[in-house]
Amino acid sequence: MFRALLIDKADGQQTAAVQTLTDDHLPDGDVTVRVAYSTLNYKDALAITGASPVVRKFPMVPGIDFAGTVEASSHPNFAIGDSVVLNGWGVGETHWGGLSERARVKGQWLIPLQAPFTPRQAMAIGTAGYTAALCVMALERHGVTPDQGPVVVTGAAGGVGSVAVALLARLGYEVAAVTGRPQEADFLTALGARQIIDRAELSKPGRPLEKERWAGAVDVAGGQLLANVCAAMRYRGVVAACGLAGGMSWPASVAPFILRGVTLAGIDSVMAPTAERIAAWRRLATDLDVNLLERLVEDITLDDAVAKAPLLLAGQVRGRLVVRVGAQD
Ligand code: NDP
Repeated sequence: MFRALLIDKADGQQTAAVQTLTDDHLPDGDVTVRVAYSTLNYKDALAITGASPVVRKFPMVPGIDFAGTVEASSHPNFAIGDSVVLNGWGVGETHWGGLSERARVKGQWLIPLQAPFTPRQAMAIGTAGYTAALCVMALERHGVTPDQGPVVVTGAAGGVGSVAVALLARLGYEVAAVTGRPQEADFLTALGARQIIDRAELSKPGRPLEKERWAGAVDVAGGQLLANVCAAMRYRGVVAACGLAGGMSWPASVAPFILRGVTLAGIDSVMAPTAERIAAWRRLATDLDVNLLERLVEDITLDDAVAKAPLLLAGQVRGRLVVRVGAQD
């Protein structure tokens, strides 16, 4: 028997509640994991509230990521007792996810927990932090270096944004943090932001090209904010776009791309190849100050997840929500 958050749908009505299940409820997979920690990501909040059709089949256990210990395995890369991490691969959308004391998944979706992280630290970082690392790696791949000028991060007080701010600052970039919550200025400064920009300043329709401000950008917002960020990139600047917190559509012009050689780098964490995942986690291990992690984290339980989901979508959660699932410590 194990406890899991289960989303179900009947007569067009979606429900989400913690339930007690047995192993024969688990989906197919070659590795069974005792989940210690999961997290509440933006996509999990969409799934739990039903605000967006993230869940592709019902009933579904949400949770796009988890850290835990292998309990059973017929996969050659994993043995009983191994500490593992999972991010994405449609888990929590099409396959039962991490907001459950037990998960059964394909071994090819797992990676070993990377030293020096504990399972809780790995989930304090979670898919949001791993995505932030993919964004930073994309800026580097396209040649952005700290001497080229400031890097702007949107949604800075959220999960992806706060880890991106911390990572970039540690790497020596001058970070400009865009936030809709000016009251989080001290938090963002503690993470290493040198400049705090009110989101309202970048939310109105702007010109196709604005004054050149940034050498790089990590954007979690999409929508008008992304259009305005692109318009204000320096010559040959690079924008890593990973989110849609401000909207899916994108009222932009091609001017920044054809007149300033700006690069728009799309970031997807869900289906990223395993080697890139491990590279991103290694970068987090070397470049993220684990002491700062504690500032980012709020610990919640499986039973708190349903109530927290709408707050996350309303942009009222600071940093990361770590869900203690079956951890014994
Ligand atoms: P969070 O909810 O933790 O953070 C999102 C932040 O966006 C909020 O905290 C807020 O920050 C800002 N925000 C909220 N509403 C708006 C708005 N209307 N316009 C602009 N900004 C807004 O979510 P995550 O950080 O976990 O995820 C952020 C985005 O990235 C989501 O869209 C998510 O789906 C996406 N994502 C994509 C991944 C990928 O693989 N491509 C992986 C992980 C996440 P503030 O108050 O500071 O402005």
